[in-house]
Amino acid sequence: MFQHIEPYAGDPILTLNEAFGRDPRTDKINLSIGIYFDDEGKLPVMAAVRAAEAQQLQAAGVRPYQPMEGAANYRQAVQHLLFGAEHEAVKSGRIATLQTIGGSGGLKVGADFLKRWFPDSAVWVSDPTWDNHRAMFEGAGFKVGTYPYYDAATGGLDFEAMLAAIEQLPARSIVLLHACCHNPSGVDLTHAQWARLIPVIARRGLIPYVDIAYQGFGDGIEEDAWAIRALAADRTAGTPISFFVASSFSKSFSLYGERCGALSVVCPDAAQAELALGQLRATIRRNYSSPPTHGGQLVARVLQTPALRAQWAAELDAMRVRIAALRQRLHSGLGERLRAAGDTRNIDYFITQRGMFSYTGLSATQVDRLREEHAVYLVRSGRMCAAGLNPNNVDAVAAALATVMLKD
Ligand code: PMP
Repeated sequence: MFQHIEPYAGDPILTLNEAFGRDPRTDKINLSIGIYFDDEGKLPVMAAVRAAEAQQLQAAGVRPYQPMEGAANYRQAVQHLLFGAEHEAVKSGRIATLQTIGGSGGLKVGADFLKRWFPDSAVWVSDPTWDNHRAMFEGAGFKVGTYPYYDAATGGLDFEAMLAAIEQLPARSIVLLHACCHNPSGVDLTHAQWARLIPVIARRGLIPYVDIAYQGFGDGIEEDAWAIRALAADRTAGTPISFFVASSFSKSFSLYGERCGALSVVCPDAAQAELALGQLRATIRRNYSSPPTHGGQLVARVLQTPALRAQWAAELDAMRVRIAALRQRLHSGLGERLRAAGDTRNIDYFITQRGMFSYTGLSATQVDRLREEHAVYLVRSGRMCAAGLNPNNVDAVAAALATVMLKD
């Protein structure tokens, strides 16, 4: 019956993570998957989340289905976190927000909705982007193209090429953008660059689809939402820009397996938001009916209890600062070794790239050598998860990187 089914090649990142698990070497270091590990190399349980869970258990009772769109308190908490409670778009009720199964669920529900109501649009993603973006939008039936983004020569952004390409897209093209902490490159737009891009989007009548999976890991919780708030405030074309935001709490609450995410659709007015919400509820009903309760209620409780929210914000800030410090340590450790060998190449991208990821510029062959000879795991594109560094492994990583980089 099933002989004709093609074998699944597996997801490259998840497969690598499994290979890491099987690797018997005790000094192995995992910088592949996008997960934040603490100084002991363990997944942290945030104190604010632990406290919310203790309260939750006290209150636990019956377990009804949630509404299709998820819990009202969670949806409101998401809106306030992304847009700010006082934003005009929030106050005027023109944002439809739904609780989804992780950020991935948000992306897919939004993709299905767009395919139904904008069937002739194409999707444009940055070159490179998170592999699953292309898979999800193609899976929803879209053609997916790329716009220029990462500049291998500088380890930074080729903003002029990006802007020129986006300027050429037909109206109603869907443009996937990373709000902060670009995955996989760690290269973000500055505020000034966003301020140039957003009016182009408005004038061309494009549909931005913003992915924010790392809020709080770039410059801070509020700062990382800057582009989303600026998009929502733009009036270049006389009317507001309509756009999508898929958000995730997997990393920012260290709640990966609880699958806490959301989709927000920013509409020109409250009546259109109501229409969008209705069809998005239908999309969810036809897929999985309604989201789970537990994780979302932990997030809502933290965000809506001032003391817990302050505690969470401090913990997330500390995670961000810690990654930045480890990037600095890697940068200086690697730099010293390269210079000692007479190699003066510029490796500042390790500290200018932000969030969990860095594009190391290593070739697939160098990544293989790093894994085989030094037990250091990176994604074959050269993406390194800086959130897997810790004080006990950073020097070994610097030494291994130097050995591999100096060999060529
Ligand atoms: N977008 C990006 C850019 C991501 O890196 C991830 C997670 N790796 C997601 C979305 C999905 O988030 P979640 O795990 O909550 O589904």
